[in-house]
Amino acid sequence: MNEQTLSQRLERVATHVPAGARLADIGSDHGYLPVALMRRGAIASAVAGEAALTPFRSAERTVRENDLGQQISVRLANGLAAIEPSDEITAISICGMGGETIRDILDSGKARLSGDERLILQPNGGEQPLRQWLMDNDYRILHEELLRENRFDYEIIVAERTGPVKYTSEELYFGPLQMQTRSPAFLSKWQRILREKHKTLARFEHARQAVPEEKVQEIVDQARMITELLV
Ligand code: SAM
Repeated sequence: MNEQTLSQRLERVATHVPAGARLADIGSDHGYLPVALMRRGAIASAVAGEAALTPFRSAERTVRENDLGQQISVRLANGLAAIEPSDEITAISICGMGGETIRDILDSGKARLSGDERLILQPNGGEQPLRQWLMDNDYRILHEELLRENRFDYEIIVAERTGPVKYTSEELYFGPLQMQTRSPAFLSKWQRILREKHKTLARFEHARQAVPEEKVQEIVDQARMITELLV
């Protein structure tokens, strides 16, 4: 993967960035996503935000080597602190992190969101708490995608602030749109997870130390919810 050939995962993320966007890519690492989009003429400008020095330098290098310093600002900053009102950001991508981390970035940076930005989020696990945050903050999920690359399941969640929205606990757990579409990738992901839950419960039974009842109950409830989804 590089700034010309994105991974399949980032390529799918790229399709959800509106044409001509002013993009903030938070946790940009190497900066491949904003640089690839800028090279293709797909966006107007970008901010690449990074909290860690080594990836920040890597993003700076990618931008410099592509001679895009005028169009892409690389900033060393925690989460949405990378964004200034004068950037007039219209889309924010936060990819390749746990859903809880993405939620925390959105929550602690709330004051920097105008509410007009499209959020393009690609959590690695922790989708439920992320969807909960979106619902609690009046964001509607407009697209959801699930893809499998290198034996990992990746989700992409695209959301915009539209006003109050209500999702059921099942929709928060599985994804409201994925539940409707029931794609083969979605069903095989949850079949796999159900097998894991059963293995976990079997391990609990044979554990030398008793597992707390509420932990067991949590897994039992999840296994039941998944079984109901799959029937
Ligand atoms: N977004 C890229 C992708 O999807 O390929 C890179 C993902 S990389 C696994 C996660 C990056 O997020 C790391 O470079 C890390 O330093 C950065 N990161 C984690 N927490 C952050 C935060 N609060 N603010 C900015 N960057 C953060």
